Amino acid sequence: MKTAADGDLIRRINRHRVLTEIRRRGTVARVDIAAATALSPATVTTVTGELLDAGLIEIAEDGEAARRGSATLSARGRPRVLLRLNPAACHVAGVKIAMHQVSVWISDFAGNLVRSIMVPVRANRQPPEVVADLVEDALRQACVGAGLKLAEIAGIGLGVPGFIDFSAGICHWSPVFGEGPVALRSLMTERLGRPVFVDNDANLATYAELWRGAGRGHDNFLVVTVEHGVGMGAVVGGQLYRGSKGFGSEFGHTKVARGGALCRCGQRGCLEAYVADFAILREAGDLLSLGDLDDPFEVQRGLDRLAEMARAGDPEVRRIHERAGEMLGLGIANLINLFDPALVILSGERMQLYEFYEAAMLAAARDNVLSVHRDRTPIQVNRWGDEVWAWGAAALALHELHLPPLEERRAV
Ligand SMILES: [Zn+2]
Repeated sequence: MKTAADGDLIRRINRHRVLTEIRRRGTVARVDIAAATALSPATVTTVTGELLDAGLIEIAEDGEAARRGSATLSARGRPRVLLRLNPAACHVAGVKIAMHQVSVWISDFAGNLVRSIMVPVRANRQPPEVVADLVEDALRQACVGAGLKLAEIAGIGLGVPGFIDFSAGICHWSPVFGEGPVALRSLMTERLGRPVFVDNDANLATYAELWRGAGRGHDNFLVVTVEHGVGMGAVVGGQLYRGSKGFGSEFGHTKVARGGALCRCGQRGCLEAYVADFAILREAGDLLSLGDLDDPFEVQRGLDRLAEMARAGDPEVRRIHERAGEMLGLGIANLINLFDPALVILSGERMQLYEFYEAAMLAAARDNVLSVHRDRTPIQVNRWGDEVWAWGAAALALHELHLPPLEERRAV
Protein backbone atom coordinates (compact mmCIF):
# COMPACT_ATOMS: atom_id res chain seq x y z
CA MET A 1 0.00 0.00 0.00
CA LYS A 2 1.30 3.43 -0.90
CA THR A 3 1.85 5.76 2.04
CA ALA A 4 1.87 9.56 2.14
CA ALA A 5 5.67 9.37 2.49
CA ASP A 6 5.88 7.31 -0.72
CA GLY A 7 3.70 9.90 -2.48
CA ASP A 8 5.99 12.69 -1.33
CA LEU A 9 9.06 10.76 -2.49
CA ILE A 10 7.51 10.16 -5.92
CA ARG A 11 6.54 13.83 -6.17
CA ARG A 12 10.07 14.94 -5.39
CA ILE A 13 11.56 12.49 -7.84
CA ASN A 14 9.16 13.71 -10.56
CA ARG A 15 10.13 17.31 -9.81
CA HIS A 16 13.75 16.32 -10.14
CA ARG A 17 13.16 14.53 -13.45
CA VAL A 18 11.44 17.60 -14.87
CA LEU A 19 14.15 19.95 -13.59
CA THR A 20 16.87 17.70 -15.03
CA GLU A 21 15.18 17.67 -18.43
CA ILE A 22 14.87 21.45 -18.46
CA ARG A 23 18.52 21.73 -17.40
CA ARG A 24 19.60 19.33 -20.15
CA ARG A 25 17.77 21.21 -22.90
CA GLY A 26 18.03 24.84 -21.86
CA THR A 27 14.54 25.87 -22.97
CA VAL A 28 11.80 23.32 -23.54
CA ALA A 29 8.04 23.04 -23.98
CA ARG A 30 5.92 20.96 -21.58
CA VAL A 31 4.99 18.52 -24.32
CA ASP A 32 8.67 17.76 -24.95
CA ILE A 33 9.31 17.26 -21.23
CA ALA A 34 6.48 14.72 -21.15
CA ALA A 35 7.88 12.88 -24.17
CA ALA A 36 11.43 12.77 -22.75
CA THR A 37 10.51 11.75 -19.19
CA ALA A 38 7.57 9.46 -20.00
CA LEU A 39 5.52 11.39 -17.41
CA SER A 40 1.90 12.10 -18.34
CA PRO A 41 1.10 15.58 -19.73
CA ALA A 42 -1.12 16.19 -16.67
CA THR A 43 1.74 15.35 -14.28
CA VAL A 44 4.14 17.60 -16.22
CA THR A 45 1.61 20.45 -16.06
CA THR A 46 1.22 20.00 -12.28
CA VAL A 47 4.95 19.72 -11.64
CA THR A 48 5.91 22.68 -13.85
CA GLY A 49 3.18 24.73 -12.16
CA GLU A 50 4.74 23.97 -8.76
CA LEU A 51 8.21 24.78 -10.07
CA LEU A 52 6.99 28.11 -11.51
CA ASP A 53 5.29 28.96 -8.19
CA ALA A 54 8.50 28.09 -6.33
CA GLY A 55 10.51 30.37 -8.64
CA LEU A 56 12.78 27.53 -9.75
CA ILE A 57 11.80 27.86 -13.41
CA GLU A 58 10.47 30.70 -15.53
CA ILE A 59 8.85 31.25 -18.89
CA ALA A 60 11.50 31.96 -21.51
CA GLU A 61 11.32 35.22 -23.46
CA ASP A 62 10.57 33.36 -26.66
CA GLY A 63 7.79 31.71 -24.69
CA GLU A 64 6.39 35.18 -24.01
CA ALA A 65 6.61 35.87 -27.76
CA ALA A 66 4.72 32.64 -28.34
CA ARG A 67 1.96 33.86 -26.05
CA ARG A 68 1.69 37.04 -28.08
CA GLY A 69 1.30 34.89 -31.22
CA SER A 70 4.60 35.76 -32.86
CA ALA A 71 6.35 32.44 -32.33
CA THR A 72 5.92 28.78 -33.26
CA LEU A 73 2.58 27.12 -32.69
CA SER A 74 1.95 23.62 -31.40
CA ALA A 75 0.30 20.95 -33.55
CA ARG A 76 -3.11 22.08 -32.26
CA GLY A 77 -2.41 25.69 -33.18
CA ARG A 78 -1.84 26.85 -29.60
CA PRO A 79 1.34 28.81 -28.91
CA ARG A 80 3.97 26.75 -27.12
CA VAL A 81 5.15 28.13 -23.83
CA LEU A 82 8.85 27.47 -23.40
CA LEU A 83 10.27 26.94 -19.93
CA ARG A 84 13.77 27.39 -18.58
CA LEU A 85 15.58 27.44 -15.25
CA ASN A 86 15.40 30.65 -13.28
CA PRO A 87 19.07 31.63 -12.79
CA ALA A 88 18.18 33.74 -9.74
CA ALA A 89 16.51 30.82 -7.89
CA CYS A 90 19.64 30.16 -5.83
CA HIS A 91 23.42 29.88 -5.87
CA VAL A 92 25.55 26.78 -5.41
CA ALA A 93 29.28 26.21 -4.96
CA GLY A 94 31.63 23.55 -6.26
CA VAL A 95 34.98 22.87 -4.62
CA LYS A 96 37.80 20.71 -5.88
CA ILE A 97 40.55 19.80 -3.46
CA ALA A 98 43.88 18.93 -5.03
CA MET A 99 47.10 18.49 -3.11
CA HIS A 100 48.49 21.81 -4.33
CA GLN A 101 45.36 23.95 -4.67
CA VAL A 102 41.71 24.36 -3.74
CA SER A 103 39.45 25.56 -6.59
CA VAL A 104 36.01 27.04 -5.99
CA TRP A 105 33.29 27.74 -8.55
CA ILE A 106 30.13 29.59 -7.57
CA SER A 107 27.26 29.40 -10.03
CA ASP A 108 23.65 30.45 -10.25
CA PHE A 109 20.80 27.94 -10.53
CA ALA A 110 21.15 27.78 -14.32
CA GLY A 111 24.84 26.85 -13.98
CA ASN A 112 26.25 30.22 -15.05
CA LEU A 113 29.55 31.23 -13.47
CA VAL A 114 29.31 33.91 -10.80
CA ARG A 115 32.82 33.66 -9.34
CA SER A 116 35.73 31.23 -9.45
CA ILE A 117 38.98 31.24 -7.55
CA MET A 118 42.02 29.00 -7.06
CA VAL A 119 43.94 29.08 -3.79
CA PRO A 120 47.40 27.46 -3.49
CA VAL A 121 47.57 25.07 -0.52
CA ARG A 122 49.60 22.14 0.78
CA ALA A 123 46.99 19.46 1.25
CA ASN A 124 48.77 16.16 1.41
CA ARG A 125 48.29 13.73 4.31
CA GLN A 126 46.66 16.39 6.44
CA PRO A 127 44.28 15.88 9.36
CA PRO A 128 40.61 16.28 8.31
CA GLU A 129 40.20 19.48 10.35
CA VAL A 130 43.10 21.12 8.50
CA VAL A 131 41.61 20.22 5.11
CA ALA A 132 38.22 21.47 6.32
CA ASP A 133 39.89 24.80 7.25
CA LEU A 134 41.41 25.09 3.76
CA VAL A 135 38.05 24.40 2.09
CA GLU A 136 36.15 26.79 4.34
CA ASP A 137 38.69 29.60 3.85
CA ALA A 138 38.63 29.23 0.03
CA LEU A 139 34.84 29.03 -0.01
CA ARG A 140 34.40 32.13 2.15
CA GLN A 141 36.90 34.02 -0.03
CA ALA A 142 34.93 33.07 -3.18
CA CYS A 143 31.66 34.13 -1.52
CA VAL A 144 33.11 37.55 -0.70
CA GLY A 145 34.16 37.91 -4.35
CA ALA A 146 30.67 36.94 -5.47
CA GLY A 147 28.99 39.37 -3.08
CA LEU A 148 27.23 36.51 -1.29
CA LYS A 149 27.07 35.25 2.28
CA LEU A 150 27.89 31.59 2.87
CA ALA A 151 24.35 31.22 4.23
CA GLU A 152 23.06 32.17 0.77
CA ILE A 153 24.73 29.13 -0.86
CA ALA A 154 22.02 26.48 -1.28
CA GLY A 155 24.34 23.51 -1.65
CA ILE A 156 28.02 22.65 -2.01
CA GLY A 157 29.59 19.91 -4.13
CA LEU A 158 33.02 18.78 -2.95
CA GLY A 159 35.40 16.80 -5.15
CA VAL A 160 38.25 14.84 -3.58
CA PRO A 161 40.74 12.44 -5.17
CA GLY A 162 40.55 8.94 -3.70
CA PHE A 163 38.04 6.27 -2.72
CA ILE A 164 34.77 8.01 -1.86
CA ASP A 165 31.48 6.38 -0.83
CA PHE A 166 29.19 9.02 -2.30
CA SER A 167 25.92 8.01 -0.63
CA ALA A 168 27.50 7.71 2.84
CA GLY A 169 29.70 10.78 2.29
CA ILE A 170 32.77 8.91 3.56
CA CYS A 171 36.28 9.23 2.16
CA HIS A 172 37.94 5.85 2.70
CA TRP A 173 41.29 6.92 1.33
CA SER A 174 42.67 10.07 -0.25
CA PRO A 175 46.18 11.44 -0.71
CA VAL A 176 44.99 14.71 0.89
CA PHE A 177 44.21 13.04 4.25
CA GLY A 178 46.61 11.51 6.71
CA GLU A 179 44.36 8.65 7.71
CA GLY A 180 41.06 7.20 6.60
CA PRO A 181 38.19 6.78 6.72
CA VAL A 182 36.98 10.39 7.05
CA ALA A 183 33.26 11.20 7.43
CA LEU A 184 33.79 14.14 5.12
CA ARG A 185 30.18 15.00 4.25
CA SER A 186 29.03 15.24 7.88
CA LEU A 187 32.23 17.07 8.87
CA MET A 188 31.75 19.71 6.16
CA THR A 189 27.96 19.96 6.57
CA GLU A 190 28.37 20.68 10.29
CA ARG A 191 31.25 23.05 9.65
CA LEU A 192 29.54 25.08 6.91
CA GLY A 193 25.91 24.75 8.00
CA ARG A 194 24.95 24.06 4.38
CA PRO A 195 24.11 20.81 2.53
CA VAL A 196 27.35 19.27 1.24
CA PHE A 197 27.73 16.45 -1.30
CA VAL A 198 31.07 14.67 -1.58
CA ASP A 199 32.28 12.69 -4.56
CA ASN A 200 35.37 11.40 -6.25
CA ASP A 201 36.88 14.23 -8.30
CA ALA A 202 36.95 12.23 -11.55
CA ASN A 203 33.18 11.75 -11.25
CA LEU A 204 32.82 15.52 -11.02
CA ALA A 205 34.98 16.07 -14.10
CA THR A 206 32.53 13.66 -15.75
CA TYR A 207 29.54 15.72 -14.60
CA ALA A 208 31.19 18.76 -16.19
CA GLU A 209 31.57 16.87 -19.47
CA LEU A 210 28.00 15.57 -19.30
CA TRP A 211 26.45 18.97 -18.69
CA ARG A 212 28.57 21.37 -20.69
CA GLY A 213 31.41 19.46 -22.36
CA ALA A 214 32.01 16.91 -25.08
CA GLY A 215 29.78 14.36 -23.35
CA ARG A 216 26.66 16.47 -23.82
CA GLY A 217 24.18 14.50 -25.90
CA HIS A 218 25.93 11.13 -25.32
CA ASP A 219 24.29 8.46 -23.15
CA ASN A 220 27.41 6.27 -22.95
CA PHE A 221 30.87 7.76 -22.62
CA LEU A 222 33.95 7.60 -20.41
CA VAL A 223 36.18 10.27 -18.92
CA VAL A 224 39.75 9.24 -18.04
CA THR A 225 41.63 11.67 -15.83
CA VAL A 226 45.42 11.72 -15.64
CA GLU A 227 46.81 13.77 -12.79
CA HIS A 228 48.59 12.82 -9.61
CA GLY A 229 46.61 9.60 -9.99
CA VAL A 230 44.58 8.08 -12.82
CA GLY A 231 40.81 8.30 -12.41
CA MET A 232 37.73 7.62 -14.43
CA GLY A 233 34.07 8.50 -14.65
CA ALA A 234 31.58 6.40 -16.59
CA VAL A 235 28.25 7.60 -17.94
CA VAL A 236 26.10 4.56 -18.69
CA GLY A 237 22.58 5.00 -20.03
CA GLY A 238 22.77 8.77 -19.38
CA GLN A 239 23.63 8.29 -15.67
CA LEU A 240 26.89 8.49 -13.79
CA TYR A 241 27.85 4.91 -12.84
CA ARG A 242 29.16 4.56 -9.28
CA GLY A 243 28.97 0.81 -8.68
CA SER A 244 27.24 -1.05 -5.82
CA LYS A 245 29.35 0.45 -3.00
CA GLY A 246 30.33 3.73 -4.65
CA PHE A 247 33.88 2.70 -5.54
CA GLY A 248 33.37 1.82 -9.21
CA SER A 249 35.49 3.10 -12.09
CA GLU A 250 38.87 2.85 -10.33
CA PHE A 251 40.62 2.60 -13.66
CA GLY A 252 43.97 3.64 -12.18
CA HIS A 253 44.11 0.47 -10.09
CA THR A 254 43.31 -2.01 -12.85
CA LYS A 255 46.35 -4.25 -13.27
CA VAL A 256 48.48 -4.00 -16.40
CA ALA A 257 51.56 -5.94 -15.21
CA ARG A 258 51.48 -8.95 -12.91
CA GLY A 259 53.72 -8.23 -9.91
CA GLY A 260 54.78 -4.96 -11.58
CA ALA A 261 55.60 -1.51 -10.23
CA LEU A 262 54.46 -0.55 -6.71
CA CYS A 263 51.35 1.64 -6.60
CA ARG A 264 50.21 4.18 -3.99
CA CYS A 265 47.39 1.77 -3.08
CA GLY A 266 49.97 -0.76 -1.84
CA GLN A 267 49.40 -3.24 -4.67
CA ARG A 268 51.63 -3.91 -7.65
CA GLY A 269 51.20 -3.53 -11.39
CA CYS A 270 48.39 -0.93 -11.31
CA LEU A 271 48.04 1.25 -14.42
CA GLU A 272 48.54 4.31 -12.21
CA ALA A 273 51.95 3.02 -11.14
CA TYR A 274 53.13 3.54 -14.74
CA VAL A 275 51.13 6.59 -15.84
CA ALA A 276 50.43 8.98 -12.95
CA ASP A 277 52.61 11.90 -11.90
CA PHE A 278 54.26 10.01 -9.05
CA ALA A 279 55.17 7.15 -11.40
CA ILE A 280 56.65 9.44 -14.05
CA LEU A 281 58.66 11.31 -11.44
CA ARG A 282 59.87 8.05 -9.91
CA GLU A 283 61.13 6.90 -13.31
CA ALA A 284 62.76 10.25 -13.96
CA GLY A 285 64.21 10.49 -10.43
CA ASP A 286 67.88 10.17 -11.46
CA LEU A 287 67.51 12.85 -14.13
CA LEU A 288 65.91 15.48 -11.93
CA SER A 289 67.53 15.32 -8.45
CA LEU A 290 64.22 16.13 -6.80
CA GLY A 291 63.62 16.82 -3.13
CA ASP A 292 60.76 15.50 -1.03
CA LEU A 293 58.06 14.12 -3.34
CA ASP A 294 55.53 14.31 -0.49
CA ASP A 295 55.65 18.06 -1.05
CA PRO A 296 53.09 18.92 -3.75
CA PHE A 297 55.06 21.99 -4.81
CA GLU A 298 58.18 19.86 -5.31
CA VAL A 299 56.08 17.48 -7.43
CA GLN A 300 54.91 20.38 -9.56
CA ARG A 301 58.46 21.67 -9.92
CA GLY A 302 59.56 18.22 -11.10
CA LEU A 303 56.72 17.99 -13.65
CA ASP A 304 57.49 21.46 -15.01
CA ARG A 305 61.17 20.51 -15.35
CA LEU A 306 60.23 17.26 -17.13
CA ALA A 307 58.02 19.16 -19.57
CA GLU A 308 60.92 21.50 -20.35
CA MET A 309 63.26 18.56 -20.95
CA ALA A 310 60.70 16.82 -23.16
CA ARG A 311 60.22 19.96 -25.23
CA ALA A 312 63.97 20.24 -25.60
CA GLY A 313 63.94 16.71 -27.04
CA ASP A 314 65.67 14.86 -24.18
CA PRO A 315 65.54 11.22 -25.43
CA GLU A 316 65.32 9.66 -21.96
CA VAL A 317 62.42 11.91 -20.90
CA ARG A 318 60.68 11.25 -24.21
CA ARG A 319 61.07 7.49 -23.61
CA ILE A 320 59.49 7.79 -20.14
CA HIS A 321 56.47 9.60 -21.59
CA GLU A 322 56.12 7.12 -24.44
CA ARG A 323 56.10 4.20 -22.01
CA ALA A 324 53.41 5.92 -19.95
CA GLY A 325 51.47 6.54 -23.17
CA GLU A 326 51.68 2.86 -24.14
CA MET A 327 50.38 1.75 -20.76
CA LEU A 328 47.57 4.31 -20.87
CA GLY A 329 46.62 3.21 -24.41
CA LEU A 330 46.55 -0.43 -23.32
CA GLY A 331 44.26 0.47 -20.44
CA ILE A 332 41.97 2.55 -22.65
CA ALA A 333 41.70 -0.34 -25.12
CA ASN A 334 40.51 -2.52 -22.21
CA LEU A 335 37.90 0.11 -21.34
CA ILE A 336 36.64 0.32 -24.91
CA ASN A 337 36.37 -3.47 -25.06
CA LEU A 338 34.45 -3.51 -21.75
CA PHE A 339 32.10 -0.53 -22.19
CA ASP A 340 31.78 0.10 -25.94
CA PRO A 341 31.53 3.86 -25.24
CA ALA A 342 30.57 6.40 -27.90
CA LEU A 343 33.51 8.53 -26.81
CA VAL A 344 36.51 8.49 -24.47
CA ILE A 345 37.49 11.91 -23.11
CA LEU A 346 40.95 12.42 -21.62
CA SER A 347 41.04 15.17 -19.02
CA GLY A 348 43.26 16.47 -16.25
CA GLU A 349 46.35 18.54 -15.64
CA ARG A 350 48.64 16.04 -17.39
CA MET A 351 46.93 16.76 -20.66
CA GLN A 352 49.34 19.70 -20.91
CA LEU A 353 51.98 17.03 -21.71
CA TYR A 354 49.74 15.04 -24.01
CA GLU A 355 51.81 15.79 -27.11
CA PHE A 356 54.68 13.70 -25.68
CA TYR A 357 52.70 10.51 -25.32
CA GLU A 358 49.82 10.94 -27.74
CA ALA A 359 51.29 8.81 -30.56
CA ALA A 360 52.29 5.92 -28.28
CA MET A 361 48.93 6.01 -26.50
CA LEU A 362 46.85 6.03 -29.67
CA ALA A 363 48.91 3.23 -31.24
CA ALA A 364 48.57 1.02 -28.15
CA ALA A 365 44.83 1.72 -27.94
CA ARG A 366 44.34 0.88 -31.62
CA ASP A 367 46.41 -2.31 -31.42
CA ASN A 368 44.51 -3.66 -28.42
CA VAL A 369 40.83 -2.91 -29.13
CA LEU A 370 38.71 -5.61 -30.69
CA SER A 371 38.44 -5.28 -34.46
CA VAL A 372 34.77 -4.23 -34.16
CA HIS A 373 35.89 -1.09 -32.28
CA ARG A 374 38.94 -0.20 -34.36
CA ASP A 375 38.82 3.42 -35.57
CA ARG A 376 35.22 3.69 -34.37
CA THR A 377 35.63 5.06 -30.86
CA PRO A 378 36.98 8.62 -30.79
CA ILE A 379 39.50 9.49 -28.06
CA GLN A 380 39.25 13.20 -27.39
CA VAL A 381 41.46 15.39 -25.23
CA ASN A 382 40.16 18.10 -22.99
CA ARG A 383 42.72 20.39 -21.41
CA TRP A 384 40.32 21.75 -18.79
CA GLY A 385 41.96 22.47 -15.48
CA ASP A 386 40.84 22.26 -11.87
CA GLU A 387 38.50 25.23 -12.25
CA VAL A 388 36.17 23.30 -14.50
CA TRP A 389 36.35 20.27 -12.25
CA ALA A 390 35.07 22.63 -9.56
CA TRP A 391 32.27 23.51 -11.97
CA GLY A 392 31.48 19.78 -12.07
CA ALA A 393 31.27 19.89 -8.26
CA ALA A 394 28.79 22.77 -8.54
CA ALA A 395 26.85 20.71 -11.09
CA LEU A 396 26.67 17.87 -8.56
CA ALA A 397 25.18 20.28 -6.01
CA LEU A 398 22.62 21.47 -8.59
CA HIS A 399 21.76 17.86 -9.41
CA GLU A 400 21.33 16.86 -5.78
CA LEU A 401 19.51 19.92 -4.46
CA HIS A 402 15.97 18.92 -5.33
CA LEU A 403 16.33 15.20 -4.85
CA PRO A 404 15.11 13.57 -1.64
CA PRO A 405 17.84 13.46 1.06
CA LEU A 406 20.52 10.81 0.48
CA GLU A 407 19.48 8.95 3.65
CA GLU A 408 15.91 8.51 2.31
CA ARG A 409 17.17 7.31 -1.04
CA ARG A 410 19.47 4.79 0.63
CA ALA A 411 16.54 3.41 2.62
CA VAL A 412 14.41 2.79 -0.50
ZN1 LIG B 1 46.93 0.83 -7.25
